[in-house]
Amino acid sequence: MCATNATAIYIEADRNAEPNPAGAPAPEGVIPVAVPCVRGKEWKYLKECLDTNWISSAGPFVDRFEHLMASISNTKYAVAVSSGTAALHTALMVAGIEADDEVLVSDFTFIAPANAIRHAGAWPVFIDAQIDTWQMDPELVESFLKKGCFKKGNTLINRSSGRRVKAILPVHVLGHPVDMNPILDLAKRYDLIVIEDAAESLGATYDSKPVGSLGHMGCFSFNGNKLVTSGGGGMIVTCDPDLAQRAKHLTTQAKMPVADFRHDRVGYNYRLTNIQAALGLAQLEQLDDFLSEKRSIAATYNHALSNVPGIGIMPQAKWASSTWWLYTILVDPEKYGRTNIELMDLLRKNGIASQPRWLPLHKTAAHSGSQVISNKVAEHLHHQALSLPCSVGLDPEKANTIAKLIRGFVR
Ligand SMILES: *Cc1c(COP(=O)(O)O)cnc(C)c1O
Repeated sequence: MCATNATAIYIEADRNAEPNPAGAPAPEGVIPVAVPCVRGKEWKYLKECLDTNWISSAGPFVDRFEHLMASISNTKYAVAVSSGTAALHTALMVAGIEADDEVLVSDFTFIAPANAIRHAGAWPVFIDAQIDTWQMDPELVESFLKKGCFKKGNTLINRSSGRRVKAILPVHVLGHPVDMNPILDLAKRYDLIVIEDAAESLGATYDSKPVGSLGHMGCFSFNGNKLVTSGGGGMIVTCDPDLAQRAKHLTTQAKMPVADFRHDRVGYNYRLTNIQAALGLAQLEQLDDFLSEKRSIAATYNHALSNVPGIGIMPQAKWASSTWWLYTILVDPEKYGRTNIELMDLLRKNGIASQPRWLPLHKTAAHSGSQVISNKVAEHLHHQALSLPCSVGLDPEKANTIAKLIRGFVR
């Protein structure tokens, strides 16, 4: 028995974190980077859960949420799960990724997809970003597959590790799609599975097609900092009934449809609750409004920051419709006279939160020693990127004020 009373575990690192980690409310008077916007049928649907006693891991809102996601993503099936990371882990498993397989994944991204690869027992091979889209570079994918791999029978083997290469996991980061056509062509040529991580880009399109619908499967997250939130949750979308069926089965403890609790393999409890789905559905119904607000915030920033020396604005390829999920600038210290971190500190003193972006995943301790195919673009983006306040509901005047401050800080 413990001698002391129970206390919450306080994680030291959190003290230094930004004012609004993962979509949490910011302190009074601070403009947060990205927080949820609740102004649809959230209350109504949640009350319906409580009134009908459908509060746990099945229920009508789970079905409705899945249907709307499938329809928005232009796919036949959607399987709701407990998080975006669970969606990725499940997608990898039902795609047949096994221990010691390898999966090509973006180097410049949040860590979840690389972790999911390890959860499946496989290994990431990190692919650097293109400088003009900040997304996975198809040319590096091609050169790795061409020069770094060889065919042995029907399997593709990585020359340097000797492992099987099975799949590509492009991550559509910050609201912008990856250039998918060359990646899909390569996947076909080399017989690889494509799983899209669309967690940050719900609503974005590539050549007018919704992200998540382009590969064999697409994965989404409804964490609090994402454009649409269910508090926490995720979704797998696909046009393949077999993959959808296996994903549903595996995420519900692989329970067979018989009364006496038989299970045909070791499954997972990755279910989304009806309460989460109720929140998620109410949010998803507002997607069009959310997207148009995000796009107008981005347009305001793009306009106001376009001629500030040393500030690079967020790209949008001609084949893309970005959601501008996290509006992010590049701060060139030579020309701007300050680093991204110095700018973050100045903004914070003015009551404005901002966030630098990810250390390239191959450099993070959790995945150190992994292979990386690199042009050092991820390092460059890491050194210069800063995400600005861009929540749905942000007054466009505020975006203008923030842009003016940034202009005023040039040295
Ligand atoms: C948020 C996110 C995820 C999934 O996150 P969960 O918190 O598990 O829902 C996956 N990939 C990327 C790129 C993300 O940003």
